[in-house]
Amino acid sequence: MKVLVAGAGIIGRAVAWRLAQRGAQVTIVDPDRSAAAAMVAAGMLAPVTEARYGEEALLGLNLESARRWPMFAAELAKEVGVDPGFVACGTLAVARDADDRAELDRLAVYLGEFGLDAERLSGRAIRRREPALAASVRGGLWVPGDHQVNPRRVLDVLALAAEKRGVEEIPAGVVAVGPDAVGLDNRRELSADAVVVCAGWASGGLLLGLPVRPVKGQVLRFGPTARSVMPSHVLRGLDVYLVTRSDGEVVVGATTEDVGPDTTVTVGAVRRLLDEAWRLVPGFDEAPLVEISAGLRPDTPDGAPILDTTAAGVHVATGHNRNGVLFGSGHRRCRRRRGVRFGLAVRGVTVPARSLREQSVIAVRVNGESVELSDGSSLAGLVESHVCQTRGVAIAVNEEVIPRSAWAATSLAEGDRIEILTARQGG
Ligand SMILES: Cc1cc2nc3c(=O)[nH]c(=O)nc-3n(C[C@H](O)[C@H](O)[C@H](O)COP(=O)(O)OP(=O)(O)OC[C@H]3O[C@@H](n4cnc5c(N)ncnc54)[C@H](O)[C@@H]3O)c2cc1C
Repeated sequence: MKVLVAGAGIIGRAVAWRLAQRGAQVTIVDPDRSAAAAMVAAGMLAPVTEARYGEEALLGLNLESARRWPMFAAELAKEVGVDPGFVACGTLAVARDADDRAELDRLAVYLGEFGLDAERLSGRAIRRREPALAASVRGGLWVPGDHQVNPRRVLDVLALAAEKRGVEEIPAGVVAVGPDAVGLDNRRELSADAVVVCAGWASGGLLLGLPVRPVKGQVLRFGPTARSVMPSHVLRGLDVYLVTRSDGEVVVGATTEDVGPDTTVTVGAVRRLLDEAWRLVPGFDEAPLVEISAGLRPDTPDGAPILDTTAAGVHVATGHNRNGVLFGSGHRRCRRRRGVRFGLAVRGVTVPARSLREQSVIAVRVNGESVELSDGSSLAGLVESHVCQTRGVAIAVNEEVIPRSAWAATSLAEGDRIEILTARQGG
């Protein structure tokens, strides 16, 4: 089977490698590999500290991707003999003042509802763990399950892995897309059995109506120094994060700017990031500032990735927003509800075409009807794809009522009987 992948970011490369592993003959097309958001990204693998109220279904996917990272990194390293830079280091969420502390306390309660580990630390306890922190820091959370990887290294290793599996790369822009062919900006046309669009925020320009847009993020990079007191943990303040790599590089980020496809670096952003970082870690004075860069996150209206096949038969994997590096390890597809229109965000896998991968499927009964799901689907995924409303929904699995707070963490198995009750408004 011949497959064309548009876009050589972390998602396009992971898709290409996985497909080539399964025997597909893959070609990636990209006009500018250096434009990938992962060239700028900090590489936090942070399902827990990224958790947001109301994004429970996404939390389940994020956790699944995080669980896959150690194996994904080991598999990549084995494939090409180069370590992609995954570090199981845990993360410190830091409260600079009483407001931050109250916010982190609320987060800890929310995380507790999902059984996720987040240990509250006093100011003294957090400084003992991370002596680089400012004396004014008021406490925080120790989150042992949030780790990091070096995204630039991941891109390089994925490129080597793909090359080893015979993936061809063509330096050109895709200007037209069909289910079995693409048109290039050099007037060539390439044909294949399947086309997968992984062009990040630019995917919206290739598939009209795809709700994905760029959200700019600026970051700073500091070089290693023996003379400054630099942090040794991943630190997350409420307005800034600092990620220290094993080679001593520190990445400080990031702004969130809704300004279209603009990657200008600005004085204001640098000043704010330095200020915020300084207030958490005051020992920066001697550190060399080696890079200021800006990248574009592919964002969607509900913050969830779009992994789907268009009505015309083109496969899409984009919209990974602030978690695309995390999602690089892959996650399973939940079958979408028949009749859900293209353009709505649908959870899925990073290898998006069912026909392109071996997929193990389980059969469950939903309100008495047989429904097929991907093995590993969660209850939250099922709700997402089968229920239009999110309020007034009660669910039982095998006659046991499952509270909403446990939907994301409830995996479904072959033969499960699910009853979904929805309350109607009015009357
Ligand atoms: C400042 C910042 C910090 C971040 N931090 C983190 C983090 O800590 N953890 C995390 O998990 N994620 C993070 N992210 C998010 C993550 O980097 C992205 O979600 C992810 O890299 C998106 O990957 P992608 O392959 O979908 O898209 P992209 O990386 O945007 O890649 C798309 C590729 O498509 C190519 N392309 C564009 N148009 C065309 C065309 N017409 N034809 C062919 N190719 C085309 C581009 O040249 C590019 O190479 C961060 C992002 C930013 C900007």
